[in-house]
Amino acid sequence: MPDDSIKPDNTEAFLPFALPDIGDEEVAAVVECLRSGWVTTGPKTRQFEQEFAAYLGGGVETISVNSATAGLHLALEALGIGPGDEVIVPTLTFTATAEVVRYLGAQPVFVDADPDTLNFDLQAVERAIGPHTRAIIPVHYAGLACDMDAVLALARTYGLKVVEDAAHAFPTRYKGQLVGTLGSDVTVFSFYANKTMTTGEGGMVVTRDAELARRVRVMRIHGISQDAFQRYTSRKPAWFYEVIAAGFKYNLTDLASAMGIAQLHKIDRFLQRRELLAARYHEALRGLPLRLPTAASGDSTHAWHLYVVRLTDHAPIGRDELIARLSERGIGTSVHFIPLHRQPIWRDSCRLSPAQFPAAEAAYHSMLSLPLYTKMSDADQQRTIDNLRELLS
Ligand SMILES: *Cc1c(COP(=O)(O)O)cnc(C)c1O
Repeated sequence: MPDDSIKPDNTEAFLPFALPDIGDEEVAAVVECLRSGWVTTGPKTRQFEQEFAAYLGGGVETISVNSATAGLHLALEALGIGPGDEVIVPTLTFTATAEVVRYLGAQPVFVDADPDTLNFDLQAVERAIGPHTRAIIPVHYAGLACDMDAVLALARTYGLKVVEDAAHAFPTRYKGQLVGTLGSDVTVFSFYANKTMTTGEGGMVVTRDAELARRVRVMRIHGISQDAFQRYTSRKPAWFYEVIAAGFKYNLTDLASAMGIAQLHKIDRFLQRRELLAARYHEALRGLPLRLPTAASGDSTHAWHLYVVRLTDHAPIGRDELIARLSERGIGTSVHFIPLHRQPIWRDSCRLSPAQFPAAEAAYHSMLSLPLYTKMSDADQQRTIDNLRELLS
């Protein structure tokens, strides 16, 4: 080996913005699954759904899917959203929240952010309600719940459906109750690689509405009726099934579910670690020209999927430069999100301009997401803090 393979002490490895936390338990569970011969949807998926429902409590039904995007699509489909309908979504979110509305030929209507929480602004939501509005998709930004009492009250007043995009919010409590059990029509969680738990790709649809759950289950797997499946498991010959709708192929594999079960068993420990890292950032970054993220209060809790800081006017350098300098120093960060009103598809097809979204604009220009994940060490975090201090003082 050449000597240059040995790095001097002061060059540390690049700290990525996010990494999944996959241990021996996940590896063993997937290997066991491979050896069992069940690689598509089967007993592990059923177990994952049952354990996820048990974790949430509240008598919810859980339907696993191969992404949160698929889950949001199925939720809106089951609610009967279609051409001519409008669905209210935040501009400060990932494009999946809006694209699923288009899948069904309906129109997303974008609303501005609340400058404090960065969840959507409820007054902007109410202003956006019109004669064609059918549903609202609150996104629990970064892992802090929207004011769901107010969202649900608004929905009742105007007769709207509510589908929670809880991609960041597992587990998040709102006034003591877990997101997923709050009384909206449907909640959808994501198990994408950088989320608070992962199955590689995956998601979970959660509802208390038995009829809606039935439709989601049917549409998840080619529109094959559950009744036919039940007949298949009892009296009818094994080859018989009935297709009752032009469905989708959104089922989760047992390989993914085996991983999900192992991750779910660690979720409380993951949350504790995230809470600790967030508290440390809060303590250590006070005094710098940064607006720190709003924490949960009272009986509510924050999932800390993201730790988003915003540079204040007193900062000596701008956001883009700070990201570049941190990167030079081996620290990865990201931006959540480039608001959807800036993305060509939504900007052009919905004729959106930045002036319509002043709070999301201000946030976008000043924000960055710091590394926060269970696999990062205390030293990794200290290095991030030290570099922020140097660059911002
Ligand atoms: C990650 C994410 C999604 C999509 O999740 P997938 O499981 O990747 O489909 C949807 N909404 C938000 C806000 C997200 O961050």
